[in-house]
Amino acid sequence: MSKSLQAIRGMNDILPEQTPLWRYFEGTVACLLDNYGYKQIRMPIVEFTELFKRSIGEVTDIVEKEMYTFEDRNGDSLTLRPEGTAACVRAVLEHGITGGGQVQKLWYIGPMFRHERPQKGRYRQFHQIGLEVFNLDGPDIDAELIIMTWRLWGELGIRDAVKLELNSLGTSESRGRYREALVEYLSAHHDKLDEDSQRRLKTNPLRVLDTKNADTQAVLVDAPKMADYLDDESRAHFEGLKARLDAVGIPYVLNPKLVRGLDYYSKTVFEWVTDKLGAQGTVCAGGRYDGLVEQMGGKPTPGVGFAMGIERLVLMLETLEQIPEEISRQVDVYLCAFGEEAELAGLALAERIRNELPNLRLQVNAGAGSFKSQFKKADKSGALYALILGDDEMAQQVVGFKPLRGQGEQQSIAWDALAAHLATCVVQG
Ligand code: ATP
Ligand code: MG
Repeated sequence: MSKSLQAIRGMNDILPEQTPLWRYFEGTVACLLDNYGYKQIRMPIVEFTELFKRSIGEVTDIVEKEMYTFEDRNGDSLTLRPEGTAACVRAVLEHGITGGGQVQKLWYIGPMFRHERPQKGRYRQFHQIGLEVFNLDGPDIDAELIIMTWRLWGELGIRDAVKLELNSLGTSESRGRYREALVEYLSAHHDKLDEDSQRRLKTNPLRVLDTKNADTQAVLVDAPKMADYLDDESRAHFEGLKARLDAVGIPYVLNPKLVRGLDYYSKTVFEWVTDKLGAQGTVCAGGRYDGLVEQMGGKPTPGVGFAMGIERLVLMLETLEQIPEEISRQVDVYLCAFGEEAELAGLALAERIRNELPNLRLQVNAGAGSFKSQFKKADKSGALYALILGDDEMAQQVVGFKPLRGQGEQQSIAWDALAAHLATCVVQG
C-alpha cells in the first residue's frame, strides 16, 4: 500500500477483536468513578498552543519536543492535546464551575498526542482516563484518588503486579529552596553529569533526579534530599496521606526521586508502576497542583488528579491473562432462516424477542444462504445457541433451538414461549 494510505507511525487502529477488551476496561473504570461520585467532562482535542505552554511549562519534554502543533487557517497556533489537565482547567475556568470554592470531581477519557519514539507501551496517539478534583486541599482527597485506583486494580485482577510510588514535592516555596540547593550541589559536579542533565540543570533541575544515566545517578547519591526541605504544612499533608493509605492497607514505597515530567505539581506526587511491561512501566501517574489554576489566570484553587494510560493497562490485562471470558463472546443467539417466508417471520420474531429481552445479543443471519452456510456462520459468530426457522418450523409455529457448544440436543420451542426459554438459558450481562 502506498505510504500515504497507511496510518501515521505511532497512531494505531484498535481492531474489532481488540475493542471488547478496551470497552471492558473503560466500562469498569467508568462504573467505579460513577460509584465514587465523579462526573465526566469532555473537552475538545485541540486547544490553543499557548494553553499547554503556560500550564505544562515551556521547558518540559512535552512542550519542548513532543507536541503536535500547527497553524490554523486563520493563523492561530493550535496543538493536539498532549494531556488532559490543561484543557480541563481551562474548561472549568471558562465556565466558572470552580468559582466560590465549588468542589468539582471530574474525569475524562480520550486520545492524547505526543511526538515520541513509538515502541511497546509508547505511542504518538495514545489514550488516557484522567481525573481532576478542584477545591479540596486536604490529604483525604489525595488518598481517595489512590484508594480508587487500588480498587480498580483489584477489580481488574492486576493488583499484585503494580506498585505504588509516592513522594512529596512540597509547596512551591519549599520546592524553590530545594531547587536552589540542588542546583548548587549539581553545579559543583557539573563535569560528571550527562549532557541531558547538564541542560536540565539550567532549565528544569528537578528533572535531573529521574535521569537514567548511571554516572549522573552516582552523583545524585549525595545530593540534597527533597524531604529535608519540606515545609511543615507539606510534611503534615504527606503524613496525613500516608496515615490514610495505612488505614486502608495500601502498600507504597517512598521514592524521593519521583518528580514527574510536568512543571505544575506540588505536595503529593505518585505513580503506579509495573515490571510486566518492560521499559514503559508507569500505568497511572498523578499528583497535586495547587498553583496551577492561579497560574492559568484563575483564583487560587487547589487541585489534584491523575491519568492512566489505557494502552498500557490493556496490555497488562493481556500479559497477565486477566481477560474475563464473557467479553470475548459477542453473540448469544444466532437466528437462521431458510426461504423468504421464514426470513420475514424470523425478522418479526427477532424484534419480539428483543422487546422482551433488551440485553440479549441476538444476531439475525443476513445474506440468506444454504443450511450449511448459515450454520457455519452461526458457529463462527461464537453464539451459544442457533435458532432455526425452516418450512417445518413455519408450519408448526416453532423454532428449532440448537445448542452450539455441546449443551444438549436440538428441541422445538413455540414462538410464544421462546423469550421465556431464552431468558433461562442465556445469562445476560
Ligand atoms: P512516561 O514517563 O512513561 O513518558 P509521562 O510521565 O510522560 O510517562 P503522564 O504525562 O503522567 O506520563 O501520563 C500519564 C500516563 O499516560 C502514563 O503513566 C502512561 O501510562 C500514559 N502515557 C504517557 N505517555 C504515553 C505514550 N506516549 N504512549 C502510551 N501511554 C502513555
Ligand atoms: Mg513522557
